[in-house]
Amino acid sequence: MNILVFAESESNTFKKSSFEALSYGKEMAKKFDGMCIAVCHQTQDNFEGLGKYGADKVVNYASDDLAIFNPKSYAEMIVHAAKKHNCQHIVISQTYSGKAIAPLIAVLMEYNIVTGIVDLVEEKGEQLEATKTVFSNKAYARLSFPKDRMVITLVPNSCDLKEYDEKTEIIQNSTSFENQSQTKSLDRIKAKGKIPLTEAEIVVSAGRGLKGPENWNMIEELADLLGGATACSKPVSDMEWRPHSEHVGQTGITIKPDLYIAIGISGAIQHLAGVGSSKNIVVINTDKEAPFFKAADYGIVGDAFDVVPKMIAELKNIQS
Ligand code: FAD
Repeated sequence: MNILVFAESESNTFKKSSFEALSYGKEMAKKFDGMCIAVCHQTQDNFEGLGKYGADKVVNYASDDLAIFNPKSYAEMIVHAAKKHNCQHIVISQTYSGKAIAPLIAVLMEYNIVTGIVDLVEEKGEQLEATKTVFSNKAYARLSFPKDRMVITLVPNSCDLKEYDEKTEIIQNSTSFENQSQTKSLDRIKAKGKIPLTEAEIVVSAGRGLKGPENWNMIEELADLLGGATACSKPVSDMEWRPHSEHVGQTGITIKPDLYIAIGISGAIQHLAGVGSSKNIVVINTDKEAPFFKAADYGIVGDAFDVVPKMIAELKNIQS
């Protein structure tokens, strides 16, 4: 049983979440005695990482029609590859693009779909089982679904990368996929920040406790020293202290980094909805009763303007 994995890329470079989806697909392929096949759109022949993280085959569609992401054409590309290579399951990372194309693929293929999966499927008799997040990441549900013909979306950062040592065959396909959608992307504005928030393993986030936008230098410096990205609470982006692309929570971006440092953020339920599944949470807050401490692995009751400069100085000390 072959597994198809969509390897999403940005400027010809694959996202970490694509590698996670590939490792996931490879483990499924091993279970079902099939191949893990990556499908992608690369205009330059850069397939680095795809074989290492699990692809037995790579099918590349270099068509110009796919230069700007549009869900319909990308779904058609994936369906084309799935049919050609006889794939019984399609694994897609639950990114913005993944969320847009997964249901279209399920409809076009007449497959079932499960979204928000956080662990490897297990065989239970004639069915498969896996866990998904529910209620804005506040709980988990165990799902049972058919053993074949599934579209599975995988939450980024929920499964480990695995490395494999097998030869990968690259197949170029020149089929074009004209954008027949009524909606067209006119422009793309790249979010600031060196590391995309959804890809970051470490996120330094701050809230209204920072008092004003002029105080974000220390947040950026701490994030830089840790090799992480910056984020913020909703009021902070509403007041335009920080760009909306940094807003995390129920109405913002959902992230699941290895380390989330929350500075001067109260920990309202709507904020936790977007960050509560982070693997480790560190909270810095002057108020020892702040709700965020209940969700924290480590807490510092203290003034951000005192604690953060000390953290920066200590990190510089360690790194020098
Ligand atoms: P505050 O609640 O003002 O908290 C500031 C914190 O900083 C306090 O805990 C305070 O003790 C601490 N503090 C103050 N000074 C210092 C200092 N010097 N050092 C250290 N700590 C200090 N919010 C989101 O973030 N994301 C969402 O997606 C979101 N969606 C929402 C959706 C709906 C429908 C609604 C109703 C609300 C939503 N909210 C969301 C808003 C949410 O309810 C909170 O109001 C918001 O998260 C609070 O932001 P904050 O913690 O930055 O500010």
